[in-house]
Amino acid sequence: MEKHTTNNYLERIEELENRLAEAEDLIDAIKAGEVDAFALNKNDTHEVFTLQSGDFAYRVMVENINEGALNLSNDQLIVYTNKSFYELLGLPYESVIANSITTFIHPSSIQIFQRLFSEALQGESKGEINLKTGDKIIPVYISLTSLQPHLPTVGMVVTDLTEKKEVEKEREVKTMLHKIFKQSPAAIAIFEVPGFVFVSANHIYMKLVNRTEEELLGKSLAEVFPEAIKYGVIERYQKVYETGEAIELFEFESKWNRNRDGKIDGGYFNAVIQPIKDDKGNVVSIMNHTIEVTDQVLARRKIEQSENELNELANAVPQLVWMANADGRILYYNKRIYEFTPDAQDQQGVWVWEELLHPDDLPSTIEAWNSSIKNKVAYEKEHRIKLKDGSYRWFLSRGYPQISNEGALVKWYGTATDIHAQKMHEAQKDDFLKMVSHELKTPITSIKGYVQLLLAMLIDQQNAVAALVRQPLQRIDNQVERLGKLITDILDVSRLEDGRMDLQKDFFRLDELVKETVQDILFATTTHHIIINQTTACTIFADKNRIGQVLINLINNAIKYSRENTVIEINIFYPATGYIAVSIKDYGIGIDEAEQRKIFHRFYQVGDHYSMHYTGFGIGLYISAEIIRRHGGEIAVDSQKNRGSLFTFTLPVNNQVAST
Ligand code: ADP
Repeated sequence: MEKHTTNNYLERIEELENRLAEAEDLIDAIKAGEVDAFALNKNDTHEVFTLQSGDFAYRVMVENINEGALNLSNDQLIVYTNKSFYELLGLPYESVIANSITTFIHPSSIQIFQRLFSEALQGESKGEINLKTGDKIIPVYISLTSLQPHLPTVGMVVTDLTEKKEVEKEREVKTMLHKIFKQSPAAIAIFEVPGFVFVSANHIYMKLVNRTEEELLGKSLAEVFPEAIKYGVIERYQKVYETGEAIELFEFESKWNRNRDGKIDGGYFNAVIQPIKDDKGNVVSIMNHTIEVTDQVLARRKIEQSENELNELANAVPQLVWMANADGRILYYNKRIYEFTPDAQDQQGVWVWEELLHPDDLPSTIEAWNSSIKNKVAYEKEHRIKLKDGSYRWFLSRGYPQISNEGALVKWYGTATDIHAQKMHEAQKDDFLKMVSHELKTPITSIKGYVQLLLAMLIDQQNAVAALVRQPLQRIDNQVERLGKLITDILDVSRLEDGRMDLQKDFFRLDELVKETVQDILFATTTHHIIINQTTACTIFADKNRIGQVLINLINNAIKYSRENTVIEINIFYPATGYIAVSIKDYGIGIDEAEQRKIFHRFYQVGDHYSMHYTGFGIGLYISAEIIRRHGGEIAVDSQKNRGSLFTFTLPVNNQVAST
């Protein structure tokens, strides 16, 4: 038995230290490639290890690992590949070995690869690239290591990332779906089949049905909403489950104990009940996707209701009421339309004036309509409209344009009022007036003749009787003169109406006519000063008597309606090329804005003053306006109450006519 002395221990330690040093030397020698084989002394037996066999073991390992393992020459040729790599590419060994690695790298990754490769030549590098084989792209992770100085190559290990990428993608899609589900403005609930048990519901759904998550999840539709059975909701789900086809519901009314007060109420909804299928096409769950549209539906109903009421109202009025868009296409009319000719509108719904109107009224109507469109002002016209039975009746048509803030025409609102009875009545009155005037004309002419005769006989008589009779006779003469003028006016009106006023046109100097007329009037007027402010020589081709009549009318009106301020000013000037204008200005009572348009209508008189202070018939301006219009001119008034009036008429100066 050996004695374990301290010396013994020290010797043993020394021996172990020596062997350790030997082993370290050996490892260094192996690392330096100086050793090919070595033997290990184990229980007096020698086990010899060759380094080639170690290499073999590594090779077997490398051949069998899941990762691709390659050796690349410095010019990137594949000098070694394991099975995993060419199997990953789906190619036989022969198609891979001795090829450039770049043949198997997707173009989009070449640049990255080149960078990794050159980094590897300095040591090592790692990164993600895409391989390509056929038209398949394989995402991989590669790690490159320079094998120098032992081998003049670069080792490359390739890890397939396909599966990892797919998992990542799936996860991404899932998070996205989850987000959509949670954030969707629609209410979404998912049900298990076949029992239609709530598996999931988003916040909006819970709010919409007024139930908490605990009240829904794990419970069946029928449990949570017993009413659903009664209203056929479950049947709908059943149908989706059985047919595998979605059901879309538009503005359907759904009722349940919404407010949890035991009462059944609900609202209107747009919904999709959609099957969710697995890969084999089996319905695995059902998704309900709902948007509440109660407010919209109720608002629309309200509008529809008031539209209906308006429609009824429109149908109740004895007029035709219509609405058209800017280009004249009719958007609405009430039932009166059925009393008119059926050809009143074309296929596009535009009024066909030619069919609708009496041929005599057509040109003036079209003119009025076009002028309304051009000036975007209301349109008003009396004309005869053809009825269903082909007869014509008089209507007053009005159209009001709706103008946008930008000044564009948006719509027309129109009416047509049957004024046939009034028209007939008026015609009768006109006929009567015409007859009376005619009948009166003869006696008046003879009265005037006799009065003139008597006055002539009295001229040289100086006796008392003559003195007594002369003045009354003079009065009779004046009154008969007035009466005669009225009758001429009335006859003028009927002439105008019947289109019998023929103009006797000739060339004359307008400025001279004005001067003469003013002189004539001044001869009989002592109260007023009539001043021709501005004059200009101008020859026109017109009916001199009629233009004279207009001047007399306007100047006499100026005198009549300005008793206090007795100055009247006349101007003759060119307002625009091709026209001459005459204006008559007084500083009298003026005319209200509202009345200004009406004073040119026949028999119209401004109400408040006439009956008390002023004599007249209300036709002077009507006749004047018609005369000017028939000459191709215009007449207008500019006036302010209590400040005075300015009447201006224009006439064309047709040089071509004048020179022929
Ligand atoms: P009348 O015979 O009544 O004068 P007119 O047709 O000449 O008929 O004129 C119509 C109405 O226009 C008159 O009744 C009067 O109210 C108004 N009018 C016409 N001229 C003037 C004026 N210069 N100043 C104020 N009002 C006027």
